[in-house]
Amino acid sequence: MSQRVSSRSSRTSRLRTRAAFMAAGLGATAVLGAGVAVAADTSAAAAPAATTASAVQAQAAAQARAAKAAQAAAAAKAKAKAVAAAKKAAAAAKKAAAAKKAVSWVDPVKKYALSAKFAQAGGMWQSTHSGQDFAVPSGTNVMATHGGTVVKAGGNGAGDGPAYGNAIVIKHGNGTYSQYAHLSRIDVSVGQVVKTGQHIARSGNTGNSSGPHLHFEIRKTPNYGSAIDPVAFLRAKGLKV
Ligand SMILES: [Zn+2]
Repeated sequence: MSQRVSSRSSRTSRLRTRAAFMAAGLGATAVLGAGVAVAADTSAAAAPAATTASAVQAQAAAQARAAKAAQAAAAAKAKAKAVAAAKKAAAAAKKAAAAKKAVSWVDPVKKYALSAKFAQAGGMWQSTHSGQDFAVPSGTNVMATHGGTVVKAGGNGAGDGPAYGNAIVIKHGNGTYSQYAHLSRIDVSVGQVVKTGQHIARSGNTGNSSGPHLHFEIRKTPNYGSAIDPVAFLRAKGLKV
C-alpha cells in the first residue's frame, strides 16, 4: 500500500517536472494554461492518493495494534522464559544443597560433652589417647560421621584390641576412616554402605572405659596407630564440635 502511494507521488512530481519543463519552453501566457492543466492533473492524481492516505492510516493503526500485540506476546514470552529460568535456578540450588549435604560431615553423637582429648596422656592408654571422647549416656544413637563402607565391626575393638570394646571402622574417601568404640550395641556389619548421619550403633562402656562415652577416631588407615586429631578434622569440615 505505501509503495503505491510513493509511486503515485513520484508520478505527481514527474508531472510537475514535465509541466515546468513545458512551461519553460512556452511563453509566459502558456505557462498559466499549462499550470492549470497540470494542477488539474495533479489534483486528479491526488484524489485517490487521499483515499489511499486514509487507508494507509487504517493500515498504520492495524500495524500499531499488531505491533502492540506482538510486543505483549514478546513480553509474555520473556516472562515465561524468566519464570522457567528462575525454576531452573531453584532446581540447581536445591541440587547443589543436596550435593553439599552428601559430602558434608556430622558429629557422631548429637548431645555430648567433650571429655578426654586426642593425644592426651594418661594411665588409661597405651601411649597417648588415640581419639576424642564424647561423654554421652549409654544407649545414645551413634551415627556415621560421613558416608562410607563399614570395614570393621565387632568386639575386641573389631580387631584393634580389647581396650576399645565393641568398635566400628568406616572407610570414607581420600584415605580417611572413622572409628567408634566402647559401643554397647553394633547395628551394622562389614561391607555395609552407610550414609552421612545414618544410625550405626548405640554408645556404651565396653572395653577399657572409665564410664559411658563414645570414643571417636579419624584414621588414615583402618588400623590403630594412624589416628589424627578428630576434633581438628571435623572443625576443618565446618563442624562446631
Ligand atoms: Zn577415648
